[in-house]
Amino acid sequence: MKAIKNLEDLFYHELQVLWSAEAMLVEAMPAMIERAQNTGLKKNLALHLAETDQHKVALEMICRELGIDPQGDFNPGIKGILEEGQKVMAKDATPEGMDAALIAGAQKVEHYEISGYGSAAHYAEMLGYDAIAKRLRLTLEEEQQADTKLNFLAKNIVNRRAKAVAPVTPAV
Ligand code: ZN
Ligand code: FE
Repeated sequence: MKAIKNLEDLFYHELQVLWSAEAMLVEAMPAMIERAQNTGLKKNLALHLAETDQHKVALEMICRELGIDPQGDFNPGIKGILEEGQKVMAKDATPEGMDAALIAGAQKVEHYEISGYGSAAHYAEMLGYDAIAKRLRLTLEEEQQADTKLNFLAKNIVNRRAKAVAPVTPAV
């Protein structure tokens, strides 16, 4: 692993762990889409999978421009969030309960990405990579929009439906 001496090194590190995150997400999202029952949620996740693929390609282009290997680092943070999600997805659940759980898991990912892209875009601006900063800001906006849409779906539809599922009455 390369030493982080300055902001430039940290910028490269951040790009590599973001690429690692997007690559893992592209692999993990189809199972979430499959598991989702609510049509709005399914569509939303499918749309964001397409965006995620573009985010990954954008990072590859940025790394090429900077002369660094996008695959130069690994992201244990996103791996952990995904493992948590996989544990939840393996549970026995009602469709309503699982939809609510899927949104909560997806929002954890979005918040992680919002934080990472926020840092990376700021580093790019400070280091004078204006075009790269713009591309990173565009991805950041898409992550924020994905989070906002998930939040809307959760609050207005999915969580309400999960709340309305009747509890199993204990046998007396
Ligand atoms: Zn993304
Ligand atoms: Fe995302």
